[in-house]
Amino acid sequence: IDVVNKIAAGEIIVAPENALKELLENAIDAKSTSIDIIIQDGGLKLLQMTDNGVGIYKEDLPILCERFTTSKLSTFEDLNSIGTYGFRGEALASISHISRLTVTTKTKDSACAYRAIYQEGRMVGEPKPVAGKDGTQILIEDLFYNVPSRLRSLKGGNEQLSKILDVVARYAINTDGVAFSVKKAGDTLNLLAVRANNSTKDKVRTVFGSAVASELLPIAVEKSEEIGLLSCEGQITNTSYYSKKSVSPIFFINGRLVSCDPLKRMITQLYSSFLPKGHKPFVYLRIDIKRENLDVNVHPTKREVRFLFEDEIFQVIFQSIQAKLGSLDH
Ligand code: ADP
Ligand code: MG
Repeated sequence: IDVVNKIAAGEIIVAPENALKELLENAIDAKSTSIDIIIQDGGLKLLQMTDNGVGIYKEDLPILCERFTTSKLSTFEDLNSIGTYGFRGEALASISHISRLTVTTKTKDSACAYRAIYQEGRMVGEPKPVAGKDGTQILIEDLFYNVPSRLRSLKGGNEQLSKILDVVARYAINTDGVAFSVKKAGDTLNLLAVRANNSTKDKVRTVFGSAVASELLPIAVEKSEEIGLLSCEGQITNTSYYSKKSVSPIFFINGRLVSCDPLKRMITQLYSSFLPKGHKPFVYLRIDIKRENLDVNVHPTKREVRFLFEDEIFQVIFQSIQAKLGSLDH
């Protein structure tokens, strides 16, 4: 069973950035307004996230890392968030199978925080009372220590670091009212810091630079009930923006960072009809789809989503961007 669990875990978490994305989503779900991340060796040696969210009840700690137990946890009585993030209760379970995982957490009605250690889906011993602030700290150490092939293929260090920074940057841009910071263990310097009350444009400036930020155009696609498009807005660079460095399009669908190749291809093609070759636009879209139309569980890593009326929805997004860029092009 443990071998099977380990293999399953290794398919969900294939690099530190995947673990980080799961932790970010949990912290945002927990209504945090501040999320601080510390990493060492690109997250392979250490990946720690501290949030100031609702915390986890002590009674829930024993089952925290069992698979598919989320619905048993009591903190999230608001089942609305389930549809938003496709809750499956697999992330922490998976992480516990391929790392040393420590969770320290305090709900606001508890007098102290509790710390629990997990191994292979199970809590080791009892939760220990410790001093701590409201919120949750997740500490992942020695990720993939028992998956040597994965560890070899990741080659440690800098590449993982830049991927982690990129995931945090994307969530920071998309998440209003939450401050984010990333540091290396032992450093006081922030590698990335975004304030809670900054505008989207300011956040883009902070993380992707002012060259991008000053060329942004707001996009707002009209909502369309019949095809389940509840909202679609974002920021795209105009046709005079030039950068050789490409940032892959940032798509959030129902609050989840996703890759969406058909949409990406469509937008790239659209830009190429306005711009000379080599121009790399910056595209950020936040799309909300009627929940019952959405399937987030098409892939174990949940990086892809499928939904009803995809073609129709992409079409209206395409037209909206085309109209925006076209209106500038004389
Ligand atoms: P899922 O998010 O799919 O439920 P996870 O393994 O990511 O599965 O998390 C399991 C549960 O642990 C969450 O549903 C939530 O109840 C709790 N949890 C995890 N991280 C946090 C956090 N940072 N703050 C509060 N609760 C958390
Ligand atoms: Mg989760």
